[in-house]
Amino acid sequence: MDTKVIKTLVEHNIRPSVQRISIMDYLMGHHTHPTVDEIYTALAPSIPTLSRTTVYNTLKLLTEHGAVLTLTIDEKNTCYDAQTEPHAHFLCKRCGKVYDVMYDNETMEEHAPDIGGHDVQEVHYYYKGICKQCKESDK
Ligand SMILES: [Zn+2]
Ligand SMILES: [Zn+2]
Repeated sequence: MDTKVIKTLVEHNIRPSVQRISIMDYLMGHHTHPTVDEIYTALAPSIPTLSRTTVYNTLKLLTEHGAVLTLTIDEKNTCYDAQTEPHAHFLCKRCGKVYDVMYDNETMEEHAPDIGGHDVQEVHYYYKGICKQCKESDK
């Protein structure tokens, strides 16, 4: 097993069980913002004891400990992201793909509104439209 995955779990105070390691490993290796179903379908063949509920509960735990981000950009599906550095997301309305949009912290701080003394733990920037690939297939 990947020690980087175990290290990430431990750093977030999560006890690394086989299922937690597998799910975290999948998320860290697939930057496609998978849903519960996608993760379950990918891992079920290698972990016969895995259930959808376990995947869901594990993702909930990983999110609560800050190891994973939960995205609600797509109203139909909740997506999960192991990239917890601040970044924005772009959802293609045609193919449904969620893309990472990276930008530097300075830009974000510069444009950050005055929150008014509240303690910010998560920031979500969502963009929606038609992705480059879909635009190109139009031609
Ligand atoms: Zn697209
Ligand atoms: Zn992302």
